[in-house]
Amino acid sequence: VKLKHYAPAVLKETDMEVKSSEITLEVEEGSQDVLVKNFYLSCDPYMRHRLTGLDYSHHPSFKIGQVLEGFGVSKVVESANPNFKPGDYVSSWTKWEEYSVIPKGERLTIIDPSFAPLSYYLGALGMPGFTAYVGIYEILKPKKGETIFVSAASGAVGQMVGQLAREAGLYVVGSAGSQEKIDLLRNKLGYDAAFNYKEEEDHVAALKKYCPRGIDMYFENVGGKTLDAVIDNMNPFGRIAVCGLISQFGKEKKDGVSNLYKFISARITMQGFLQSDHLHLMPKFMELMAGYLKANKLVYFEDFADGLDNAPNAFCRMLSGSKIGKQIITIAKD
Ligand code: NDP
Repeated sequence: VKLKHYAPAVLKETDMEVKSSEITLEVEEGSQDVLVKNFYLSCDPYMRHRLTGLDYSHHPSFKIGQVLEGFGVSKVVESANPNFKPGDYVSSWTKWEEYSVIPKGERLTIIDPSFAPLSYYLGALGMPGFTAYVGIYEILKPKKGETIFVSAASGAVGQMVGQLAREAGLYVVGSAGSQEKIDLLRNKLGYDAAFNYKEEEDHVAALKKYCPRGIDMYFENVGGKTLDAVIDNMNPFGRIAVCGLISQFGKEKKDGVSNLYKFISARITMQGFLQSDHLHLMPKFMELMAGYLKANKLVYFEDFADGLDNAPNAFCRMLSGSKIGKQIITIAKD
């Protein structure tokens, strides 16, 4: 799957194209390279920045004609690297293609297929789950009994935030874009309350209603008018972890914050973060997840698109919210 046109404002499926080309299924001896067969590819919002032709984020834009790349789950086919052997399952930084040569085997990690479904390494046990963990424990530092509000609550990150927050003894409130998602949040994902932000005219009033004791912590995934309404409802010494601002994607003029004074009167702290600054905590996170899996506590919803031909559509569905849970592209299975 290649980038066909830059899409600074609105991304369309036709801005990407699927092309066939032949590659040699071998690696050069002594190169340290690893040939992998890709099983699952991850659709992640940050990739949207890479389709704009603009270099305003910390992720450089793809070039026209470049094959898209991102997180994947793959199986080693051939290896010139002593750390990997054919048959190993790996979480990978790979290309949106059937087979990829990973130069020097960089960013490959061997994973255990008996631990959890392989696709979980792109979501619950992968970058999105880890993002939820970092945001909650490193940035927000919750105290039992506090109220946390989470936007894009049913997504790849949000569903993990909800479960971690519930385990931390918090009152957990979320918003998402459909009734089906609200039902999942309430009935399956441990949220105490949830609402469809598309059906609430007055976000300040909605938050007052669903967070009756005010908001102590906000896990920010969307920005825009949601952020403004949250600030109005923040309790003294409230904390905001700025994880993502998906409502601002493609906007030439980004929304600002109208009620900055509330930061002073309520002594609010707001901190942006990148999960990649905290990778030393990955073993601790995986240990926690192992406990959740063992206790049958982890619930995770995934939405699978079938094959590379459907990849451009899957990526647009992820951005628009038409999918449920973590958006994944299936390329192959064992
Ligand atoms: P999701 O699986 O949640 O997918 C994105 C969802 O955002 C959509 O499905 C949609 O769901 C919602 N959305 C889209 N547009 C809007 C809008 N205008 N207003 C409100 N909601 C909207 O994505 P992830 O869980 O993977 O990522 C969530 C956020 O976390 C993103 O902002 C991403 O950039 C950020 N992120 C940051 C990281 C970091 O290190 N800081 C790492 C990983 C992710 P809905 O139906 O609810 O509208």
